[in-house]
Amino acid sequence: MANCCICGKKLGMLSGVSLSFQYDGAIICNECNEYHLRLKKLARTKQIDADELHEVREYFQTWSASGKTTQQAQECLEEEWKEVNENEQKYLEFQERKDFFMTTTGYQFEGYQIIEYLNVMSGEVVLGTGFFSEINAQISDFLGTNSELFEGKIAKAKEAAMDNLINKALHAGANALIGIDFDLMTLTQNIIVVSVNGTAVRIKEKA
Ligand SMILES: [Zn+2]
Repeated sequence: MANCCICGKKLGMLSGVSLSFQYDGAIICNECNEYHLRLKKLARTKQIDADELHEVREYFQTWSASGKTTQQAQECLEEEWKEVNENEQKYLEFQERKDFFMTTTGYQFEGYQIIEYLNVMSGEVVLGTGFFSEINAQISDFLGTNSELFEGKIAKAKEAAMDNLINKALHAGANALIGIDFDLMTLTQNIIVVSVNGTAVRIKEKA
């Protein structure tokens, strides 16, 4: 018998997962493990989902504040949070720079002139397994009523692909993208790639 090192819940012989932390004797219950996996994912990703981050942060903070989380687990989590916080910081900085970045499906901006053409660039996002089987099931069940869910997924993927592209353009010294064009490609039955490309340029306001 042991207690979960995050929430303190009593764990039986067969419940709980060990080795989630890199020290001996730490056992984590299934629910805390789910959140811990989500935390690890947040530490790896560059595109922080604010809602996801908020939910995961709140979960760990609640247990921590209740005093159930062991000191050792606290220390381990802190290391992981450091990475997540850095990612969040970078993402917020990116969002700020993005506010001043201009994009168009056309080839010019009213009141601006293009002073330099950089490269044609692209940003991609891969939507994984289950996407189509889910769609098929939903369509046959609802004939469209639930397609909003998938439109939402595609919209999110488009946004992420766009962020990806803008990030590349910013790094190349661009302040705008022209000729924005989206593409959807299917790689296999279960993998769909959302890509966007455009030409990175530098623009300045006309005198
Ligand atoms: Zn737990």
